[in-house]
Amino acid sequence: MRTMNNNYISLSDIKKLETKIDDIYHYDEKIFISFKNCNLRPTAGGQLYDKGKFYNGTWWDIKEVIQKNNKILCWVDAKENNFKVNDTVLIDLDYKRRNAISRMHSAIHLISYLNTDKMTSGHAGYAKSRIDFKGDIKKFEKLFPKIRNNFQNIIKQRKKIIVKYLRSSEIKNVKEFYCTNSLIYRVVEIENYGTSMCYGTHVNNTEEIGEIFFDEPISVKDDIYKINLYI
Ligand SMILES: [Zn+2]
Repeated sequence: MRTMNNNYISLSDIKKLETKIDDIYHYDEKIFISFKNCNLRPTAGGQLYDKGKFYNGTWWDIKEVIQKNNKILCWVDAKENNFKVNDTVLIDLDYKRRNAISRMHSAIHLISYLNTDKMTSGHAGYAKSRIDFKGDIKKFEKLFPKIRNNFQNIIKQRKKIIVKYLRSSEIKNVKEFYCTNSLIYRVVEIENYGTSMCYGTHVNNTEEIGEIFFDEPISVKDDIYKINLYI
């Protein structure tokens, strides 16, 4: 069963969050902080980690966010005596970076709906993203110009991108669905085009995906090919 730390998912739309330092850890000669609540996301749910900074009288950069033992840990480039457990802090999300990742994540969903081959994995990055599909690359190469064209048209159409929380009995026509023992599933729908089970962040409509560039498809192995996306 896949477990999810839902704390950062529910708080991930908040740009500035006041909270307290929960604990301080050392891994690989780096200092990591966990906060009582955290609006920054680790690499999870098909997207790259957030960056940001926090304030406790001085601003400190958060260079990476990881998930370890179901805790969200922020790697801080500072010395341990710069802060202590229970300090009240303000976490400031790097929204420019988050927005780029959200644009990429929505673009990945849209491409996966336009391609009839099954998406085997997707990773939304900051400047570069990747989608892998299972299918015949030769067939896809012929279809790709049309899919790309369709993609650009849907971006202009400003279709809504909606996050919904559904009970398992309400789930139907959801692509990329895997069953867990949760009572409620988070799904993301691109109006008219498709719905996926998803714990990532998205833009509000297809127009906000903006300009995306694609490489030609590249063969990964036998029946798997990938496409890279860039902002
Ligand atoms: Zn997703």
